[in-house]
Amino acid sequence: MMAGPDRVVIVGESVAGITAARELRTRGYTGRLVVLGNDPHGSYARPALSKSVLKDLTVDISAPVAYDDLDLNVVRRAATHLDLAERKVSTEDGDAHPFDAAIIATGATPRRLAEPSQRGELVLRTLDDAQALHRRLDEATSTIVIGAGFLGMEVPSACASKGVDVTVVDVVPPLRRLFGPFLSWHVARLATAHGVRYVKASGSVRLLGQPVAGIILDGGATLTADVVVSCVGDVPAAAWLGGTGIADQLGVPVDSRCATPIPGVFAAGDVTYLRSGGYLPNPTTTVARRRPFWCNAVAQGKVVAASVLGEPADTVPFDDYFWTELFGVHVKVAGPLLLDGDPGQVDGSIEDGDALLRWDHPDGRVTAVAFGRRIAVSRLRALASSTAD
Ligand SMILES: Cc1cc2nc3c(=O)[nH]c(=O)nc-3n(C[C@H](O)[C@H](O)[C@H](O)COP(=O)(O)OP(=O)(O)OC[C@H]3O[C@@H](n4cnc5c(N)ncnc54)[C@H](O)[C@@H]3O)c2cc1C
Repeated sequence: MMAGPDRVVIVGESVAGITAARELRTRGYTGRLVVLGNDPHGSYARPALSKSVLKDLTVDISAPVAYDDLDLNVVRRAATHLDLAERKVSTEDGDAHPFDAAIIATGATPRRLAEPSQRGELVLRTLDDAQALHRRLDEATSTIVIGAGFLGMEVPSACASKGVDVTVVDVVPPLRRLFGPFLSWHVARLATAHGVRYVKASGSVRLLGQPVAGIILDGGATLTADVVVSCVGDVPAAAWLGGTGIADQLGVPVDSRCATPIPGVFAAGDVTYLRSGGYLPNPTTTVARRRPFWCNAVAQGKVVAASVLGEPADTVPFDDYFWTELFGVHVKVAGPLLLDGDPGQVDGSIEDGDALLRWDHPDGRVTAVAFGRRIAVSRLRALASSTAD
């Protein structure tokens, strides 16, 4: 006998939404399953946009989120409204999709710097963005990347591999906010070795030109380039939830079951954050924040499906595993960030791009980092968690 609702609507055709759909079917859900998506290319692996598509337009990036084998009703229309009273999701074409359970998995959209009328700001979130940036880089000799986070360092990696001159601008050194000072220093060293210039801004940067052809630094100095890319973070894609009270500025708060306070309404992936009154990995040390990483979206996709069916989940509703590729070096991180000070243990040589690093946090948790070291993700995870308590 099937457990759970008869009509499930998932909003968001990407890794969180498709993982939820797969898990629902795996758990035996046989009812109606509608997936709403607003990307004309459907579902694909976003991490490959910066690592592969910028270098090769022909690469197929759909496999990790393929769903041909699933019984889904996919509707490529943007959700425009969540009606809690009528329990339906409206789409841009005026249709309404009734639900017994709804899963919000709309991810995030890039933060932008352009003035409302300013044209030509490039960002990187979708396949269209990546293809457009690829083509611009093919014709460019110089690029400015604003923001030195993980995306803001992956784009220069692609530029360097294409022989495009690149300048990265931020108020803090590369990856300092995410990784802390030690790894930041080594990433900066790697970037410099690949010809990437870093300009430290003293305050906010504005875009220059119509269309955009450079930037204006805080003190008024200008820099120009053929291509300007903003990699200045993202915001939860929650505007369509306006009027419901389900989302706030940080995103959609959920509890340990990926449930919102509204019965039958759940959320997963980049659009969410775990609320402190619900479940945080470590309530004494962890602040509420979004975890905009692939594995977190997978974990939450699985948890949310179990919760929709009223069943216990097989996993916790968060995953801090993260990876990036910088100038040919694969960096894998298992365990909490930020990483204060130097690592407690270093095995190998970070200078040679072959090191296993370990940070012991004051609260007993452990972060393990493979910096160019080839290691199975499961082994890295075990190193991070084995002494976590
Ligand atoms: C270039 C890039 C590189 C990345 N690299 C890494 C990496 O190396 N490692 C890592 O861990 N993470 C990486 N990430 C982050 C990772 O891709 C995200 O954490 C993950 O995609 C989040 O999945 P999601 O399903 O929650 O949201 P998303 O992937 O953002 O998907 C949300 C979906 O909802 C759709 N949608 C939005 N609004 C609506 C609406 N109103 N109606 C219908 N559909 C809607 C969107 O079109 C989209 O398909 C990267 C992200 C980017 C952009």
